[in-house]
Amino acid sequence: MKHFSQYIDGAFDAGSARFDSVNPATGEVWASMPAASAGDVDRAVRAAHRAFVDSDWSRMTASARGRLLWKLADLVEQQAPRLAELETADTGKIIRETRAQIGYVAAYYRYYAGIADKLQGAHLPVDKPDLEVFLRREPLGVVAAIVPWNSQLFLSAVKIGPALAAGCCIVLKASEEGPAPLLEFARLVHEAGFPPGVVNILTGFGADCGQALTAHPLVARIAFTGGPETARHIVRNSAANLAVTSLELGGKSPVLVFDDVDVDSVCNAIVAGIFAASGQSCVAGSRLLVQHGVRARLLARLADRARAIRIGDPADPATEMGPLATRRQREHIETVVAASLDAGARLVTGGVTPAGAGNYYPPTILDCASASTPCVAQELFGPVLSVLGFATEDEALRLANDSEFGLAAGVFTRDLARGHRLVRGIRAGIVWVNTYRAVSPIVPFGGYGLSGLGREGGFEAVLEYTRTKSVWINTSDAPVPDPFVMR
Ligand code: NAD
Repeated sequence: MKHFSQYIDGAFDAGSARFDSVNPATGEVWASMPAASAGDVDRAVRAAHRAFVDSDWSRMTASARGRLLWKLADLVEQQAPRLAELETADTGKIIRETRAQIGYVAAYYRYYAGIADKLQGAHLPVDKPDLEVFLRREPLGVVAAIVPWNSQLFLSAVKIGPALAAGCCIVLKASEEGPAPLLEFARLVHEAGFPPGVVNILTGFGADCGQALTAHPLVARIAFTGGPETARHIVRNSAANLAVTSLELGGKSPVLVFDDVDVDSVCNAIVAGIFAASGQSCVAGSRLLVQHGVRARLLARLADRARAIRIGDPADPATEMGPLATRRQREHIETVVAASLDAGARLVTGGVTPAGAGNYYPPTILDCASASTPCVAQELFGPVLSVLGFATEDEALRLANDSEFGLAAGVFTRDLARGHRLVRGIRAGIVWVNTYRAVSPIVPFGGYGLSGLGREGGFEAVLEYTRTKSVWINTSDAPVPDPFVMR
């Protein structure tokens, strides 16, 4: 049994309460985690506020902040195998994916390390004589960051990186599911040499720890990733501190496939889009919209490919799909798949929960007759692909936009003009054409509609952790004129 600590004000502590973490592949308790209380949250936010207002951090040059972030990136890279093992043990995400993703986490920290000393204010050519006006770009203050259980190191990097590059301090709440890699990452923050209080990492439950964090009066900025229902709680809660808030939420991303494509190549992209991470990805391409001419061929090919996926121990490098992170999540998927079959969906493959330990669920494809089938409308966050057919480009676009979400979309066609028309018409924050799931530190990420507010990744993300201060300087030696004489 492993024991993890939280990290507050530059020190590790066990927390007043603890909870057990279960390995999703075996169903066994393997680690004990601190459950942060409202008191722990208050301590962490006050430490972050002290560090922001008056500390080595608040006096540090932007270049020195960048160097610390760069050092953190090096440490993440060096410790990647260990962090990947912990993430696999605590969330069931397969080791191939955790290794690859953590390598990329280091790249995100390096990208933001490079931005730290490139944030600039501006000089404004004001329409008044004898006045110089410039804008200072200043950090917002204490950031409350909250992440869900999937890809916690990655989802934290897109918050910690820009927040620190901007000069903010941060209190990050890991999810109560699978927090091990983030609590271990806190050791790297410590080793990198950030002054106490600059980065604080807690884990605990939404109702006490999350609630206390997002309502804390010293919090100036909230960065949240998770589901829309929790986001609504957080927005209501943030009425207390009126913090600037970004929300990265769910998705029901459409993948549009036209008759002119190469079926084998598209098949690989669709499989990666929905079955990678066992479908537990916000950008999962979970709604396949396929033109009638290629529908039967593509479905047959997809079913063969899905059945060939190697499901097993997530720690085995040969495994291609692991378990779901929680039993509750699997039960939810079982319920929605059953309701979809009752509503007339045809089971192409999968759909039957295997016997035995672990939260396994097979790659599942449901061919649906109507957009109102439950699996077409709801985000399942699992390995379930819902399929709808279409005849024309207009119908494809209408179906693609028939969702309250708008995180991502994929378009597969060889017709360049059609690709551009769809890019314009699709309401989503990311559109991939003839590819799927590509990400980069340089490219913003975020959604339309119920998929959220604000953008993470890219240069603009850092600006979302800053505000401007307008400074007016009188350059005249003349006395200030009488205020009651209009000029
Ligand atoms: P969730 O909303 O249940 O939980 C997310 C986090 O919020 C957890 O840390 C949880 O403890 C915390 N929380 C819960 N109640 C809270 C409250 N009242 N106040 C403050 N914090 C609270 O989400 P989940 O089930 O862990 O994750 C899955 C969801 O995350 C899916 O909808 C998925 O699409 C979304 N997601 C989005 C992105 C993105 O970038 N758009 C990325 C990954 C996951």
